Amino acid sequence: MKIICIGRNYAKHAEELNNPIPEEPVVFLKPETALLLKKHPFFIPEHSNEVHHEVELVIKINRLGKHIEPRFAHKYYTEVGLGIDFTARDLQAKAKQAGKPWTLAKGFDGFAPLSPFSAKPPALSVEDMADYQLQFQVNGGTRQSEKLSQMLFNASELIQYLSSVFTLQPGDLIFTGTPSGVSQVVPGDRCLAELKDSDGSTTHRLEIVIE
Ligand code: ZN
Repeated sequence: MKIICIGRNYAKHAEELNNPIPEEPVVFLKPETALLLKKHPFFIPEHSNEVHHEVELVIKINRLGKHIEPRFAHKYYTEVGLGIDFTARDLQAKAKQAGKPWTLAKGFDGFAPLSPFSAKPPALSVEDMADYQLQFQVNGGTRQSEKLSQMLFNASELIQYLSSVFTLQPGDLIFTGTPSGVSQVVPGDRCLAELKDSDGSTTHRLEIVIE
């Protein structure tokens, strides 16, 4: 399986890191070993002094697909969840400056924790979840809070774009980008990621304690 991630997919997040608004999706991959296994602790790696949280909606692909048209994209996933695209921001900044890939900054073991996934109704696409709100708290204080409607490239556009390059396979995950408010986590922090529907009810939840 592949873990495909989208960078700079919310305008305010691109701005907070002094990046231009992209004209095409910014794409990178994480290795499968970045998944944080259940009951495993999350450790800050020795290589970094600045690990940031990035809360993201994650789409789980359930059908083989290539060159998927946007109007059919919702047929290629039945489940969505929440993920955290943990990022060693110091290593990423160094790589960006040198024109090198972000792989190391994004790829440490455990850098992609996931919430439980839940089924969406078959006809529903992520675009129909525009009013859903992504939230991220550290020690009870809100750091990130944004509606899915603020994505620059919506799920159908992402699936079209990605499937023009990669064959999408069942089990592939698409991290759809993070809103503004990313910040550093340190050992002892208690993190809570939530997705809330338009009534404010929590549909997905992921708790992480930083070791
Ligand atoms: Zn991200």
